[in-house]
Amino acid sequence: MNIDVVTIFPDIIEHACGQSIVGRAQKKKIVRIKTHDIREFSPDRRLSVDDTAYGGGPGMILKPEPVYRAVENITGRAGKRAGTGRKKYHIILLSPQGELFSQKKAGALAKKKNIILVCGHYKGIDERVRKNLITEEISIGDYVLTGGEIPALVVIDSIVRLLTGAMSNENSYKTDSFYGSSMLDCPYYTKPSKFRDMEVPAVLLSGNHLNIRNWRREKALRNTYMKRPDLLKKARLSKTDKEVLKNIKKQDA
Ligand code: SAM
Repeated sequence: MNIDVVTIFPDIIEHACGQSIVGRAQKKKIVRIKTHDIREFSPDRRLSVDDTAYGGGPGMILKPEPVYRAVENITGRAGKRAGTGRKKYHIILLSPQGELFSQKKAGALAKKKNIILVCGHYKGIDERVRKNLITEEISIGDYVLTGGEIPALVVIDSIVRLLTGAMSNENSYKTDSFYGSSMLDCPYYTKPSKFRDMEVPAVLLSGNHLNIRNWRREKALRNTYMKRPDLLKKARLSKTDKEVLKNIKKQDA
């Protein structure tokens, strides 16, 4: 997979993407992540990338030309045509006004070959970028950050850990919260089995794998019911799950 990031702060992306699972995935050539400094595509000598908003008001706006040129330098094609042809590009604008990012969306993006992430800054980005250059807008939550770099890193991290070979054990992400059945994960304990009078539940030390599986499922159901009951509406629940959930609700009543 290729991920290109169009930004005025390439260092933020490069530093973070050099670490942990994403860093290792790059070394293993599972993903190639490349940054493109918008300033290098400024047509003027001062390398300016922003200007005041037409109509007035506070804050600077990222100009369209350097962003268009940076994206077209990657795709070799103009505007929306980048999303067609043999080498298709999926161009994402990070924006608080976009579709809310989710595990499901990360899964869908992990199937793409070529993704371009465009990071806004200042008061925002010229509307002509949103209208005619990008495939979609993604938001990482209903709050506003200074720039699109942290949202881009959120998107990159969540995609890369789903790529085959990125994690040493793929079953790890498959049991995480939101994956597949859209529930929360169960609690985990590690050594020592007793820490400051706090003991690990005996079942986890029993070596009985069926009991451990059932305990974890019950705790995952309980976690979801207590912390995010909204998720239970779309969760895939077996007959046994429904019985367990009924008991949890009874105990809580
Ligand atoms: N004026 C814009 C608005 O209210 O919609 C906010 C601009 S914000 C200060 C600057 C840039 O940060 C945006 O262009 C976007 O790239 C990024 N950004 C901020 N919050 C974000 C979020 N929740 N999700 C994705 N990107 C975000």
